[in-house]
Amino acid sequence: MLKRKPLKLLVVGSVALDSVKTPFGKAENVLGGSATYFSVSASYFTHVNLVAVIGEDFPPEYLSVLKKKNISLEGLERAAGATFRWKGEYGYQLNEAKTLETQLNVFEKFRPKLPDRYRKSDLVFLANIDPELQDEVLHQVQRPQWVVCDTMNFWIEKKREALLKTLKRVNILIINDGEARQLAEEPNLVKAARRILDWGPQTLIVKRGEYGAVMFNGGRIFSAPSYPLEMVFDPTGAGDSFAGGFMGYLARSGNFKDQGIRQAVIYGSVMASFNVESFSLDRLRQLTPRAIQARYREFKKLTHFEDA
Ligand code: AMP
Repeated sequence: MLKRKPLKLLVVGSVALDSVKTPFGKAENVLGGSATYFSVSASYFTHVNLVAVIGEDFPPEYLSVLKKKNISLEGLERAAGATFRWKGEYGYQLNEAKTLETQLNVFEKFRPKLPDRYRKSDLVFLANIDPELQDEVLHQVQRPQWVVCDTMNFWIEKKREALLKTLKRVNILIINDGEARQLAEEPNLVKAARRILDWGPQTLIVKRGEYGAVMFNGGRIFSAPSYPLEMVFDPTGAGDSFAGGFMGYLARSGNFKDQGIRQAVIYGSVMASFNVESFSLDRLRQLTPRAIQARYREFKKLTHFEDA
């Protein structure tokens, strides 16, 4: 274990009630949201400060999930109205969710306000929310060392200009392959990556579901597999759990050299692999450091090979 003062980690994103259907079952109005998956995942590595909004209908037992993980909820606003709701469906091709319904509800009027304590954050994760809100958050953080950002097709289509503006201030962009192609308007992933890196971020991590993740930075490419699970139950939140493991590890290690970032990609992959084993956060919230380390070692074995 690395002994070092952890960097301060902030996330802004959604805390949601999700209804999800996969070929293996369904769950209704369960705990979800980009900031939720991120912070529970990151909580195994470091302390997390969360900024989001919930409505009056948010179940107290879901709040306890976050409290039990020692996540700071000082920046979690409770507003009049209903909590953000997302409804999605997956076919046997589990890599891509089909969004059936997005109810912004309290998100419609949400203006993120960072508690004073959060303004000195070292690491900021702008989870998947309106890029204009992502930008508002960045204006409130004094001197972030690393800004990491996620987004989705919804915002690429509806708020492209705002998104490109946010990207100018982002160090690492984490998106899936479909989003990378759509954002760059380029079908070839290597060319798409080069174009996106010209717009601001120094590093692009492309998540490819069951095929793992590829990281582009400078002229370097690092490819990580995904864990070969026999049972993938629900991919919802895989991307955010990935980002949580990735940033949680970086916050704890403070190692932003290429080697440290590669390790963080594997921790991200480890956390995403646990998350997809159940609906909602049922598996993710029950982990132990020992289980995380064991799977990290499995990942190492997966890609190890020697010259003859
Ligand atoms: P992921 O599967 O990691 O991409 O993220 C899934 C989570 O994102 C779900 O729990 C949803 O509640 C949340 N989500 C879906 N659409 C949006 C949106 N437009 N804005 C914010 N969060 C969203």
